[in-house]
Amino acid sequence: MSEDSGTVEEITVVGERIRRVDPSPGFGGEITYSVYTPTGYVPFDPFSTQQIDLLFQIGPPVETPNTPTVRVDPSIPKDSPDYPRALADAMSIQEQIPAADTAINAVADNETVFMARENTMTGAQLKALWYEINYVVTTQTFGAGRGGEVVTDAAGHSTSYVNVMTIEGYQSSGGEYGTNYYLLHELAHTTTPVSSYNQSQFGIYLDRMSNAGTPDPNGEHYYENVEGIEVEKFANNTAQQFANLAGISLWANPPYGYTYP
Ligand SMILES: [Zn+2]
Repeated sequence: MSEDSGTVEEITVVGERIRRVDPSPGFGGEITYSVYTPTGYVPFDPFSTQQIDLLFQIGPPVETPNTPTVRVDPSIPKDSPDYPRALADAMSIQEQIPAADTAINAVADNETVFMARENTMTGAQLKALWYEINYVVTTQTFGAGRGGEVVTDAAGHSTSYVNVMTIEGYQSSGGEYGTNYYLLHELAHTTTPVSSYNQSQFGIYLDRMSNAGTPDPNGEHYYENVEGIEVEKFANNTAQQFANLAGISLWANPPYGYTYP
């Protein structure tokens, strides 16, 4: 199979993706299908008796293997009432991905991204982080003051989990710009300056609570306190720098605003 020689059509299937590769004119090959899973593309025979959900939409072609994916949390059962809601939210996020992808890829590698706290990064580093992030809509909750979390594994792959109520709140206030805010705010959290600052702020918060005689050893209230809120402001400010460089419009009034400190 040659993915370069044919037209590629991508279909979103209840949070997963089927990629259909048609042969190019004159190419006598078969039409091949695969299902996109967290571990990559897996062969799929559409004419088999294999069960597959029929709730799908035709999506844009894959521009680059580095484009972030948007999925529904696989732990939500497909017959659950939460599922259609999470799927709709995932699709609304997915709608903003192609434009964001084009804009971020247009940033020059040698461009300087100026960040708060006297940090900088390059356009190449910004793109590298974008290529490693994926987005998951979930009904999981994340504790006080939090609507989601972003997790980066040892290989540098990041997954942003967002609660349905959180993304819907952003969108009801900011429309597509609320979605853009979500995409770039989460990306900002994966930068070294913001994630390092988060670690140090978390330690400062734990010490302050402990010293005050109100220990919070698991940091359950970190994001309701000044230390956690400072990190959110730094992430917002960083997201705005990304948006300015890439020419992406963001929601005007996110939680804690764009000003740092
Ligand atoms: Zn955040």
